[in-house]
Amino acid sequence: MTSLLTAEQDQITDLARTFAAEHLLPFAAEWDRAHAFDRGVLRTMGELGFFGMLVPEALDGLGLDTLTFLLALEEIAAGDASVAISMSVHNSLPTQMLLCHGSPEQQERWLRPMARGELLGAFALSEADAGSDAAALRTQATRTADGWVLNGAKAWVTNGATADVVLAMARTDGADDRRGTRGIGAFVVPTGTSGYVAAKPEDKMGLRASNTCTVYFQDLRLPADHLVGEAGSGYLYALQALDGGRLGVAAQACGIARAALEHATAYAGERRQFGRPIGEQQAIQFKLADMATQLSAARALLHETARRKDAGEPLRARASRAKLFASEMAMRVTTEAVQIFGGYGYMREYPVERLMRDAKVTSIYEGTSEVQRIVIGRDLLNA
Ligand SMILES: Cc1cc2nc3c(=O)[nH]c(=O)nc-3n(C[C@H](O)[C@H](O)[C@H](O)COP(=O)(O)OP(=O)(O)OC[C@H]3O[C@@H](n4cnc5c(N)ncnc54)[C@H](O)[C@@H]3O)c2cc1C
Repeated sequence: MTSLLTAEQDQITDLARTFAAEHLLPFAAEWDRAHAFDRGVLRTMGELGFFGMLVPEALDGLGLDTLTFLLALEEIAAGDASVAISMSVHNSLPTQMLLCHGSPEQQERWLRPMARGELLGAFALSEADAGSDAAALRTQATRTADGWVLNGAKAWVTNGATADVVLAMARTDGADDRRGTRGIGAFVVPTGTSGYVAAKPEDKMGLRASNTCTVYFQDLRLPADHLVGEAGSGYLYALQALDGGRLGVAAQACGIARAALEHATAYAGERRQFGRPIGEQQAIQFKLADMATQLSAARALLHETARRKDAGEPLRARASRAKLFASEMAMRVTTEAVQIFGGYGYMREYPVERLMRDAKVTSIYEGTSEVQRIVIGRDLLNA
């Protein structure tokens, strides 16, 4: 089949696919059971440039376009969805916030090593009582003579216990509850700072190898130059970054679904019932046909969105559409894959139940499906 991609896009996709086949796929089931993946994998990915894909070469990144990043991310997600979320968050959220709003000094000090993969980044917006309604966050940043003191608790931070640097959103307006979106700042929080406490990892349904935990800021002191951009604009910076993050989640969903489709197709050719492979039954062929069609549609929507973003068009609700469709597609496709595997599909010994568990979170984090529908609906009505 003729590739519609550039030579560079094909090359990066091949690199990511080969890396996933050698370093992720063989270990994904074991890491799922162990609740952790080998950190050495992230080091190697950093050396290959996978942690600075969207950062300009002048700042030690690869300076790639969004589509190339998403192509690589799909490959990594097809290998291991837990590793993929580390790559997605790091590239889309903390690095982009520093790239778009960080000072030249902050970019030198933090972004450059993050782009080289030497520092792993995380993103802390959600709180126990502020998820979909993130603007209700309560973590306080109090100004002092020489900087800031942070107090509060951030929920479900991906890589909260394993990252080196967290981009954290905290109230700078002194309010202790929701006061609109203008009183929130974004801070660079090195995780080695005194007062940074990562709780024990959450025991999750899926993405079990990915570290997710509550992070406490206990009288955590930061110099003044750890505030990113303006003191009251952190929430807006976070939302802007989340538009890109949602594309990353959509690519992750496509990778998970593709892995499930490949397993189900192979199994349908091998598994014999009633004297012939189940793949000869039209009912199974129809399932595979629907799975493949839905995956192609999700990918096409995602890639068009990425191309429009790179062409400078405002994303508006497009990122929400891509994420909504891809994440719900991943759940349908992985559920059908389990069905095609029958009883074996329900067993941990086979990969499809893990893929189904991993798929679920893509319709929850970085904005639930309901929140994406709200964004899309409002955009339609305000157009
Ligand atoms: C594995 C994992 C990793 C995560 N990583 C991070 C991270 O790195 N950083 C970070 O900041 N956060 C992270 N999160 C948090 C994630 O973004 C939130 O869980 C998500 O935004 C939903 O918030 P919530 O869980 O509080 O659900 P809630 O907001 O309580 O929602 C509960 C239900 O109500 C629905 N709902 C809420 N409001 C409305 C409404 N107005 N209309 C209709 N329906 C509504 C929701 O769609 C959902 O179905 C992570 C979560 C998970 C599970």
